[in-house]
Amino acid sequence: MSFPLPIRPLRNARLLGLEPVGAASGADASDLSGPEIIEIAEVAGVRGRGGAGFPLAVKLRSVASAAGSARYVIANGEEGEPASVKDRFLSRERPELVLHGLALAARAVGADRAYAYVSDLVAARRLAEARGGDLMDVVRVTPGYVAGEETAVVRAVGGGPALPTAKPPRPWQAGLDGAPTLVSNVETLAQLALAVRLGPDAYRRLGTPESAGTFLVTLSGAWAAPALYEVPYGVPLREPVTAHLGTADGVTGVLAGGFAGGLLPPSALDLPLTHAALAGAGSTLGCGAFVLLAGDCPVAVAADVAAFFDRENARQCGPCVKGTAGVAGVLADLTVGAATWSDVARLERWAQALAGRGNCATPDAVTVLVGSLFRRHGDLVGEHLAGECGRCAVSHVTADTRFRIYLEE
Ligand code: SF4
Repeated sequence: MSFPLPIRPLRNARLLGLEPVGAASGADASDLSGPEIIEIAEVAGVRGRGGAGFPLAVKLRSVASAAGSARYVIANGEEGEPASVKDRFLSRERPELVLHGLALAARAVGADRAYAYVSDLVAARRLAEARGGDLMDVVRVTPGYVAGEETAVVRAVGGGPALPTAKPPRPWQAGLDGAPTLVSNVETLAQLALAVRLGPDAYRRLGTPESAGTFLVTLSGAWAAPALYEVPYGVPLREPVTAHLGTADGVTGVLAGGFAGGLLPPSALDLPLTHAALAGAGSTLGCGAFVLLAGDCPVAVAADVAAFFDRENARQCGPCVKGTAGVAGVLADLTVGAATWSDVARLERWAQALAGRGNCATPDAVTVLVGSLFRRHGDLVGEHLAGECGRCAVSHVTADTRFRIYLEE
């Protein structure tokens, strides 16, 4: 395993090691039947890259075997996660790979129609230019944190608002027009295309038995401009961080797996990048986004992230509307030394009560955030209650956009 792999630049991002389209050996996709494509996804061990890491073959099989005659597939490139750039990168720079994966998924489930769903203008244009035939539409949505949630995707492609709905049913059971619908992240689909091109054995040569292949990691924060890396699953986080920053010394914490993964201490740098390892640390690999903290006050970081969740929550589930706003308010007060013990007690109660209480995972993300703050940085919470925090004294928290990555249009 070689690391780092070759580099591709994109403004402030770099992508390593994706096989150029057509250059890899392996099966000719045009000869493959639906069951053969599913078999390749299974043997290769392709897992979702959007957040949950769910086995793709299981999803494909569920849609292919669901009752009903119509079926749909949707490539989900709506990257609501502010610390991630990979889906926009792939949709902009490798649209043919994404669309090849989408075509394979459509054949695997016997879909009548396929959609690519993005908010990024450049990505929408590139996908539209790269599409072949008329069985695929590009749907552009207003950007939003919840707009990429799978039920919001189905709703928006169907012409409704990009807001999550209660589950069940899940889209694979009843999605677009009530028909079984596969909603799959654009990187997952690109990985399916790679697995078919390389063949499952070669695909598995990188990564671990549990998490096969490579995946895209967005690194941001600390003292370097954000960048995108492709790494094999299983390498310690320290490796891409060192390649990115020159040294991991000075990294004082990590916002892991994106905004939904919580705050981890610097020892997280030695975690292998696998779903199991990050879950074992009380976090998630999520969409592969890692915000590196270098002296930032974890309380202030948590306040920033909670403010983001409060601003982005869809205001349609009571517990989330009240709870997320409440958490954000207390954390903002705590940051400036204005919170009380009873405020913190409410924070702890919300951290218990909000999990699983909404149509989407935003309340769960809030509980992970608050839980990780108390678990790892309870001492700092105490310092803020006393009105003194050495770290805040030397940093200036301004708004909830500190950790967001922007791309030029
Ligand atoms: S849980 Fe929150 S963010 Fe998710 S749909 Fe409900 S109100 Fe919106």
